[in-house]
Order: sequence, then structure tokens, then C-alpha cells
Amino acid sequence: MLFVVDFDGTLSLRDTVDAMLERFADPSWEDVEKEWLDGKITAVQCMQKQLHMVKTDHAKLEDFFRNIQLDISFLPFYEYVSQFAKLAIVSDGLDHAIDVAMKNADFPNLPVYANKLHFVTDGIDMSWPHKNPNCNAGNGVCKCKVAQDLSSGEKPVILIGDGKSDACLAKSADVVFAKGSLIKYCEANNIPHIKFQTFADVLAEVKAWPEDARNNFACLSA
Ligand SMILES: [Mg+2]
Ligand SMILES: [Zn+2]
Repeated sequence: MLFVVDFDGTLSLRDTVDAMLERFADPSWEDVEKEWLDGKITAVQCMQKQLHMVKTDHAKLEDFFRNIQLDISFLPFYEYVSQFAKLAIVSDGLDHAIDVAMKNADFPNLPVYANKLHFVTDGIDMSWPHKNPNCNAGNGVCKCKVAQDLSSGEKPVILIGDGKSDACLAKSADVVFAKGSLIKYCEANNIPHIKFQTFADVLAEVKAWPEDARNNFACLSA
């Protein structure tokens, strides 16, 4: 069993990239965001444009990353499911922001698959180690490809997410926990999903699964 956990808006209370742009970028970042949400540009094009709008220094960003607020109910969830499942954070956000936030909050040291953040003079840049040219979702991190590699065909793959970057995996995951705009996406595309707000909700649901459901996952998302 593999849990693919989104970071921004799922493990973190707010979208880290949005919060960073609000704080350090020209307000026109929101116009770029809208172009992405409207499907006019890809996530990669959107992030490239937006990150170049960030004007600040390394120390201020580190401080900002340390203050990212996480869903504290992730801890009991992790303690329970890590007894029988693999977990990974798979995010179309920034690897370094995730690492710093997790470490600062004393959260478990999970594998992180995200875009790579680089510090440059007066700002930041990004590279894409998990981009998949064969995925037409246009994300920096192709969550379906990462999930496929991590599970190596083993099932079930369980997605926990909230947004547009989770859409490509929502189609192929065996179980989908959804909040935010991912709920609307699942509804529009007839993808069975379980709604949640915090990891306490996810934990309650997983605990209610019959023991053998871990092997017979087809019944889980019904
Ligand atoms: Mg998210
Ligand atoms: Zn994909």
C-alpha cells in the first residue's frame, strides 16, 4: 500500500507557493495564476513566470519556509499507516520549502518528490527532476509517473490531495482522498473519491477499513 501525499494545501495548511508570492512578488502573479487555472498555460510555464517575480534574499525565504504551518493531525495518521504502508510526499511545489517546513516542525523524515528550488541573486529559480514529457497535464512533477515508479506495480495506490496538480494521478489511483478543487475535478470526471479536511479525517477512514481491504482495495472507494 502506497500513500501519495500532496504537500501544499494538504499537508501544509496553506499553499506555500501562493503564500510566498503574496509576500515577495508583484501582485500580477495572480494574473499568471489565472492563466494556468484557465488552462491557457501549463503549470511549468506558470511557475517559471511566477518564481522570477519573487524578489527577496535567501535569509528571508528560509525564515518564511520555517514558518509554514502544517496539519498537526498528520502525525497520528503517519504513526498508524506507516506500520503497514509506504508514504511519500509528492508535490508540484518546492523541495526545499518542504524540507525546511518538515524539519522545523519535527515531522517525520519522508521521501520528498518535488521541483528543485535554486537560490539566485535576489530571488529564486527552479528545475524539474520529475517532469514527464509523456504526461499532458503539463506539471513540473508528474504525480502519476512518480506513483508508478514508487509502487512498482504494487497496489493499492492512495492519493491524498487538494488541487489541480493532483488531477493526473486522481485518474489512475485506486483510492482518492480529496479536498478543495480536487473534489470538483473528481465530480466532473466521475472519479470516486472520499472527501476530507484534515489527516484526522483520513485516519478515521483508514481505521474503518476492514483488515482485508488492504489487499482487496476495490471496495474502498465504492
Ligand atoms: Mg496541493
Ligand atoms: Zn502525469
